[in-house]
Amino acid sequence: MAETVLRADGIEAGYGRVQVLWGAGVTVRRKESVVLLGANGAGKTTLLKVLVGLLPAWKGHVFLDPDEVTAWRTDRRVRRGLAYMSEIGVFPGLTIEENLRVGGQFIEKSALKTRMEELYGYFPDLATRRGTLGGALSGGQRKMLGIAKALASSPKLLVMDEPSAGLSPLFVSQVIQVLSKFREQGLAMLIAEQNIAFLDLADRVFTLEGGRIRFEGTVAELEADDSLHKAYFGLS
Ligand code: ATP
Repeated sequence: MAETVLRADGIEAGYGRVQVLWGAGVTVRRKESVVLLGANGAGKTTLLKVLVGLLPAWKGHVFLDPDEVTAWRTDRRVRRGLAYMSEIGVFPGLTIEENLRVGGQFIEKSALKTRMEELYGYFPDLATRRGTLGGALSGGQRKMLGIAKALASSPKLLVMDEPSAGLSPLFVSQVIQVLSKFREQGLAMLIAEQNIAFLDLADRVFTLEGGRIRFEGTVAELEADDSLHKAYFGLS
């Protein structure tokens, strides 16, 4: 079995006295693209925040293999090869170029320069507007910038919170298209989503319900399970 890049188990976490996660866990293997599927309020954002170190785990363990990183700050995890794209994803008051520099702040200057040019190749709309503020971009372009910003550090693992949020179906398919290019190159990804269109990218799926993992398997296995099929693909 391929080496694991991210592993979390028994995660309990929440806000104040409100517990949201009840023993949730997830694994992402090298070069693997994993979708964490769940409805609004299932706890996807909360789990991702624990994985990237923005929210403490009350219980459980997070590993960026081979190290246990449960107590590590986010910046240390980022230096280790983790990148995180939140639902917002970009700094609206910074230009495209500045956003990419922030995303790549932990890598060496000349490597960042090369990486940025490489990313502008993947995102030509951003290349022609380097001085434009993130906040002046359309929703779709802003999402592309969010992805490029997260990739600026040349991560081993990209963790994304609802890349489809706020996007029209056309932009959703453009986002899926661009992510599939990076998937082909072997970038490991963990994508929290409620939009099943993202299953096109999934080597494996986890479903999260009420702060617990209900299912782990392939898309075909998910589709073969009657009750999960009804829950995620509707009745048809
Ligand atoms: P969404 O698609 O709406 O982002 P989600 O699956 O990401 O859903 P979470 O954002 O992790 O879900 O929220 C899980 C639960 O935690 C929800 O009941 C939510 O109301 C609650 N919650 C989220 N953030 C906070 C907070 N800062 N304080 C208190 N409760 C919170």
